[in-house]
Amino acid sequence: MNEAPIIVWFRSDLRLGDQPALRAACETRRPIVPVYVDSDDGEGDWPLGGAARVFLHHALHTLDDSLKRKGSQLVVRAGDSALAELRRLIAETGAAGVYWCKRYEPAAIARDDAVQTALTADGVEVRRFNGSLLYEPHEVATQQGRPYTVFTPYYKTCMKTPPLGGPHGAPRKGRLRAPERWPRSLTIDKLTLTPGLPWGDAVASHWPISEPGAKRRLSKLCDELVGDYESVRDRPDRDGTSRLSPYLRFGLLSPRQVWSAVAQARSATRSNAKRQGADAYLRQLIWREFAYHLLYHYPQTPTEPLRGTLDRFPWRDDRAALERWRAGRTGYPIVDAGMRQLWATGWMHNRVRMVVASFLVKDLLLHWSHGARWFWDTLVDADLANNTLGWQWAAGCGADAQPYFRIFNPTTQGQRFDPDGAYVKAWVPELRSLDAKTIHDPPPLGRPGGYPGPIVEHGAARAEALAAYEKCKAASALT
Ligand SMILES: Cc1cc2nc3c(=O)[nH]c(=O)nc-3n(C[C@H](O)[C@H](O)[C@H](O)COP(=O)(O)OP(=O)(O)OC[C@H]3O[C@@H](n4cnc5c(N)ncnc54)[C@H](O)[C@@H]3O)c2cc1C
Repeated sequence: MNEAPIIVWFRSDLRLGDQPALRAACETRRPIVPVYVDSDDGEGDWPLGGAARVFLHHALHTLDDSLKRKGSQLVVRAGDSALAELRRLIAETGAAGVYWCKRYEPAAIARDDAVQTALTADGVEVRRFNGSLLYEPHEVATQQGRPYTVFTPYYKTCMKTPPLGGPHGAPRKGRLRAPERWPRSLTIDKLTLTPGLPWGDAVASHWPISEPGAKRRLSKLCDELVGDYESVRDRPDRDGTSRLSPYLRFGLLSPRQVWSAVAQARSATRSNAKRQGADAYLRQLIWREFAYHLLYHYPQTPTEPLRGTLDRFPWRDDRAALERWRAGRTGYPIVDAGMRQLWATGWMHNRVRMVVASFLVKDLLLHWSHGARWFWDTLVDADLANNTLGWQWAAGCGADAQPYFRIFNPTTQGQRFDPDGAYVKAWVPELRSLDAKTIHDPPPLGRPGGYPGPIVEHGAARAEALAAYEKCKAASALT
């Protein structure tokens, strides 16, 4: 008799190791049908952006390869409705259950709830697991049982129960039982996730997009980077951060795997610097948790301020300025280097993300949503929770203790965090002839290589932004 298989629905958890839905399916000892469904119905207003699609394309290929090495394979489906595709697959395979790891974006939650209700009514067993967060967003609460809106108390509460327990390994060969007959499948290439342009290939070339590639980067973090993380993490000219963000975004690594590896490196060392670096790094992972906590409890925040209102802010409608910002031609070297790094690699250093975001909002007076959307389309790690947190921080209306009147000076930020100008030289070749003294503040006229003059004068722009914020403050809860 054919045994009814379990469908494991892969989404943002594209790995075999520490994948709780896959593990639970293996424990049933039934055949397993791993599936990826390409459908926008769980994405709401945020369908996957261009760079993220490129990353996903390669991540699916590598997942399929890993499954094949275990005697299984990835079944690929596409359609307007994930539920309809799953139902078809259940009808074709006679599956008894569908297991998946949860997502926490508002549209995904709504879609998944509807899928669970419908499949349960069909008599199919549905099981959902947490495979992408260290803490369930609803499990962390203030003493009054409310969600946190400030990071430090959230962090302290999390640290009272630090994530314990090692991550689980990948299923051994033989544990992934194949079904009697494989259902039909599209090829991954048929999903046309890559734009077929040199841009997509160029972005992908900057990343080893595979589970082993992600693990190599994690080992590098634990062996080398973590010792200097505290002192170097703000330096875009150095390879000082983990660059694990796209792997966490698509789940080629689980946060538990990362947490556990860094915590082990911490306990194995006698070096104070390494311990401090590990603590600082783990704290960043909690920022990611905090971002999800906020998105879960305040699902309107991808488009609405968390705090106060910026309705009275005199946002400019200046397409040309937006284009210059996107293209990295504002005439401010650190801003332009960041925007060009983003376009070329699908990633930008965190310090520079803060600088370019501040520049868009507070120097150009362009609405933060323009920036959030551009990042969404160009980041390989585009993540609704983290991106929303970052942009609301920049706009001064988010969950942070930073007052809105802190406005980055792009010149001094460059001088401080890229002291030799190496980062600017890497991404703005027009300025390579300049020395460390002038590279962040080239003379406004007659700049080398046709590099543009400053799009605005920072001092005047800052004063204008401050005046605008003062007006908003009177009308809202900005602090
Ligand atoms: C305007 C703006 C937009 C951003 N958009 C995104 C985004 O779409 N996706 C994204 O993953 N990150 C985003 N970030 C956060 C941060 O810039 C990136 O997570 C980080 O640069 C990724 O590089 P890394 O992996 O080397 O970081 P590391 O310094 O090595 O940090 C390790 C991990 O911690 C998490 N982390 C670090 N900093 C933050 C932070 N400030 N907020 C939340 N999580 C953090 C990430 O998962 C990261 O991979 C944004 C920040 C800003 C200011």
